[in-house]
This record gives sequence, C-alpha cells and structure tokens, in this order.
Amino acid sequence: MADSEQGRSVLITGGNRGIGLAIAKSFLAKGDKVAVTYRSESELPEGILGVQADVTDEASIDAAFSVVEAAHGPVEVLVANAGITKDTLLLRMSEDDFSSVLDTNLTGAFRVIKRASKGMIRLRKGRVVLISSVVGLYGSAGQINYAASKAGMIGIARSLTRELGSRNITANVVAPGFINTDMTSELPEETQKQYLASVPAGRFAEASEVADVVRWLASDEASYISGAVIPVDGGLGMGH
Ligand code: NDP
Repeated sequence: MADSEQGRSVLITGGNRGIGLAIAKSFLAKGDKVAVTYRSESELPEGILGVQADVTDEASIDAAFSVVEAAHGPVEVLVANAGITKDTLLLRMSEDDFSSVLDTNLTGAFRVIKRASKGMIRLRKGRVVLISSVVGLYGSAGQINYAASKAGMIGIARSLTRELGSRNITANVVAPGFINTDMTSELPEETQKQYLASVPAGRFAEASEVADVVRWLASDEASYISGAVIPVDGGLGMGH
C-alpha cells in the first residue's frame, strides 16, 4: 500500500450498521482514521469515531464535520452511504414517501459532499464514493422513489468529476445488488426468493464484499477512475 493511503481522514455516513459499518471496518483495518455518522446511539468497534448527524439536517452535518476535522483533520475520503427505503407502488406512493426518500438518499448525499468538498479543494486531493444501488439503473416495481434517488447519485458523481476532477478529486458510484443487511432482511421471504432467482451468482452478498470495492476506489490504485459506476451485484444488473 502506498504511504499516501495511510492515516487518511475517512468519513462514512450511516456507518453504525450494515454496509456503512463494513466500509468503516475495512478502512480501519488498513490504518486510516475512520469516523462514521449515526442517528441513533450505537455501539461501534474500538478505533472508530462516531458522530451524531442526520443527513437531512445541514446544521447537524456541519457540526459532525467540525468534530471529525478536529479529531482527524479534513475529510479526504467521503462515503455517502446513508439511505432509506419507503417502498410502495406508484398509485399508493404519497408525495411525502417520494420526497423523504429523495431528501435522505440524494439531497443527503449532496449536503455531505458539498461540506466535504471545501476541505478536499484545500487539501488538493479527495475521494468521494456514493453508495447507489442496482435499482437506480435497472428499476424496481414499488421503488420509484428509491430508484430515482439512486439514479440521481450518478448525475452527482459525474458532474462532480467534471467540476473537481482537475483538483485530484475523484467521485465514483458503487451500485450494490442484494446485500445481507437490516434493509434487505425486512423484505418478505417471497420477494427475497424472487430476487435470488434473478442473481446469476446464485447468492446474496455480505456487506464486506461492497466495502472492499469502496476501499479500492479510494486507493491509489484507482486514482484514474472517476465518474464510474461499479456494480457489486453478482451479475444482476449486467449491461445496465
Ligand atoms: P441499513 O438500513 O442497514 O443502514 C442504513 C444506514 O443509513 C444506517 O446507518 C442509518 O442510520 C443511516 N441513515 C438512514 N437515514 C439517515 C439519515 N437521515 N441521516 C443519517 N443516517 C441515516 O442499510 P444498508 O446497510 O443495507 O444500506 C446502506 C446503503 O446501501 C444505503 O444507501 C442503501 O440504499 C444501499 N444499498 C443497500 C443494498 C442492500 O441490499 N442492503 C443494496 C443496494 C444499495 P440509523 O442506524 O440511525 O437508522
């Protein structure tokens, strides 16, 4: 591993459980200084700094960044991971169901990226990884709100690449398929069976398999990759 990759200030939103926590552990294992945001009080593994923040609230994001900057220095690697679902079919989907998912998943990513970019520009380096979903490109009945939010992340990453690419800042999207976490365990068994039947790999993934790809995108090895969408979906979304 190159020296420039060690001891970086890494921040993951929604890093107290699921994919976010797996990402945090992965960076920690490689010697980075890792902070995560959480909403509800959670027990975190030793060595990870937890800061309370709600990505729908700009002031709480700003406060969380200030704590992380004081403890670890300016955020060099930002993973916009916090996300929610409110699944229902279009005709039953209220405007609030739609806009609240957009506000957390997409505008939430915008808020944290905007806050982090100031420090990255000063540092003259930075890595932004947005956790999207195969659903953002593939579509999913009952997830118009979620799919729209996840597709929007690609627009953010690509526009950010055009705005800040020349400043040694990359922005990429990781699009997981079906990963074993709280989010997916809440789905009805029948729905899980249907998903499984459509995954060429014939299995769901563990959160650590997403985490490894995120860490790699933030590594020196991926320094010339920006605006990319990397699927981690066992082949589910091939060609999309
Ligand atoms: P979980 O439901 O297990 O965790 C979601 C995380 O997001 C939690 O840490 C939660 O915090 C946080 N969060 C939710 N809303 C907010 C908010 N307003 N402000 C701050 N944090 C918030 O989800 P996963 O780990 O499964 O998913 C992580 C990401 O990966 C999400 O963006 C999801 O859309 C995406 N994804 C997941 C897939 C899967 O199969 N699991 C597939 C594709 C994409 P708290 O604990 O406080 O609620």
